[in-house]
Amino acid sequence: MTLPAKQKRELESKLQAYVGKPIGPPQVGRDPVNVPMIRQWCDAMGDGHPAYTDPVAAERSVHRGLVAPPTMLQAWILPGFEMSVETEAPRDEQQALHKLLSDHGYTSVVATNCEQGYARYLRPGDELSAETVVESISEEKATALGIGYFIDTLTTFRDQNGDEVGWMKFRVLKFIPQQPAQTASSADAAPAKPQRIRPLLGHDNAWWWEIVNQGQLPIQKCNGCGALLHPPRPMCGHCQSTDLSHVIASGKGEVYSFVVMHHPQFPGYEYPLVAALVELEEGTRLVSNLVGCAPEDVHIGLPVRVCVERVDDELMLPVFRPAS
Ligand SMILES: [Zn+2]
Repeated sequence: MTLPAKQKRELESKLQAYVGKPIGPPQVGRDPVNVPMIRQWCDAMGDGHPAYTDPVAAERSVHRGLVAPPTMLQAWILPGFEMSVETEAPRDEQQALHKLLSDHGYTSVVATNCEQGYARYLRPGDELSAETVVESISEEKATALGIGYFIDTLTTFRDQNGDEVGWMKFRVLKFIPQQPAQTASSADAAPAKPQRIRPLLGHDNAWWWEIVNQGQLPIQKCNGCGALLHPPRPMCGHCQSTDLSHVIASGKGEVYSFVVMHHPQFPGYEYPLVAALVELEEGTRLVSNLVGCAPEDVHIGLPVRVCVERVDDELMLPVFRPAS
């Protein structure tokens, strides 16, 4: 359930226009760094460090007075309740970017990474502002949560003199939720069986999956030098030719290498799962699953044969079974 190729290209060119752009004017902290907020933060975090909480001890420390916990950095510029009030029009470029993705079906968001760096301790009276720039947007990724885009932002925090006091890199995944919410009529039915992660289709590989869907295993072939190529690509790595076709594999091969996966377990897969690197008799290798064989019976050199199997309504997959 992803966008048609043309719409996706249009979306991705709009997304890339955000990269490198500030999300708006610098945010200015509502209050200077102050002792009551430090005290409440420390209460909430269970942090009783005297440099943050005990003015007498702090005065005698290397800090020569109270300082704020470095991890409070972002707290000094948060706009408070206002940030969670939904408005009709996006308030800044970051909200506009998220809305663009929501409008294309990427309605869910989850924060995945946060890194901070600190240039100095902040003291009561410091006045902070922060500028956030969209640092990068990934290509479309298939994740366990669903298909989506990772958005990285970089926020630079400055004091009243304009000096940098810290930074924060923040990454979110904006994604299409994988399972639609249950409708009233299906609420009593058993939850839908989770599905395997879908292959991502693009110019370079959609043809390969179409042939798989017809029950065959294709191998890309370079018409320039005759090399067989897998996975499919836009140009031959041996002679740089873009004149490419394919042959149909005999389906015979042997296990070149393998792993038996137990954890982590993704929904839609059965474990233990044998992931094998199969060397086809034509000479190319591909990663696939080995089925119909106990994990303890798999060994390097095991002769195998391809079976293009229907996994679910939408997906045919070339898997391998022992040849005997
Ligand atoms: Zn070639």
